[in-house]
Amino acid sequence: MSIELHILGSGSATPIPGRNPTAQLLKLDQSEVLIDCGEGTQIQMLRFRHKASRIKVILISHLHGDHYLGLPGLLSSMHLMGRKEPVHLFGPPQLKEILDFQFKVSETVLKFPLHFYPTQDAEVAHLTEFCGFDIYSFPLNHRIPTTGFLFKEKPRRGHLITEMLRQYKIPVEMYKEIKAGADFITTDGNLIPNHILVKASTPSISYAYCSDTAPTLSTVNVINGVDWLYHEATFLHELIDRATETYHTTAKQAGEIAQSAGVKNLIIGHFSSRYRDLKPLQNEAALAFDQVIAAEDGMKFTLR
Ligand SMILES: [Zn+2]
Repeated sequence: MSIELHILGSGSATPIPGRNPTAQLLKLDQSEVLIDCGEGTQIQMLRFRHKASRIKVILISHLHGDHYLGLPGLLSSMHLMGRKEPVHLFGPPQLKEILDFQFKVSETVLKFPLHFYPTQDAEVAHLTEFCGFDIYSFPLNHRIPTTGFLFKEKPRRGHLITEMLRQYKIPVEMYKEIKAGADFITTDGNLIPNHILVKASTPSISYAYCSDTAPTLSTVNVINGVDWLYHEATFLHELIDRATETYHTTAKQAGEIAQSAGVKNLIIGHFSSRYRDLKPLQNEAALAFDQVIAAEDGMKFTLR
């Protein structure tokens, strides 16, 4: 299964030409998870050729407008396009009130089931299983209740090597056990080690999404060792006072978090509209962690 991350919006509070508020799609084969849905997300989807019909799960981190104002529009378009398939929506409890009110005053009765699951920002929570992944929310440290999201692929089992199964005359009823890691003992007492019988699978993958937040130690523990981390880096460190006051992270701090959490790759985003050139932000994060890329709208990352 291919796993890709598509950036639809990499900006913060206000958009600038070419940089929309936050939204991204995690593509797990043919199914997609939409993570945050800033204003203009559906236009970005058209621009980058994404079909809304592939979105099965939507995760909203918090209720600042740059993370969810595109949602009523996207859901309305799904309705107008005749969607029948359910959407599973996770977000802060008041998101349901906002949507219900919008649909009430517009006299819209959605043609598809919208299943809403409230999130909380007190502790780590398992939200759902989707396409072989466990999806968790975890608390971030922002001005209003905010959660990050963690995607952890379930352990992948190896593939049985058919020729070897035949060669050692292994009974079918043992296949499950062998796939799970057991060795085999032949009738004359020879031990056939598991690695002869099973081809190792590609390792499981993990992805963590952190926007918006002040740098926090508890986050470092949750995202420890992930393969890919998307972390906000709204400001350069020269604006640390502004970052602290608004519960945001600087590029330097984002690099330090990636480094302390021992992640493998860092993508920074959620940039203030004051920055047109992203090089200084990327360079600043790279001082602590050099596997870093500054996100731009339309970028695609192949996570595996
Ligand atoms: Zn925010």
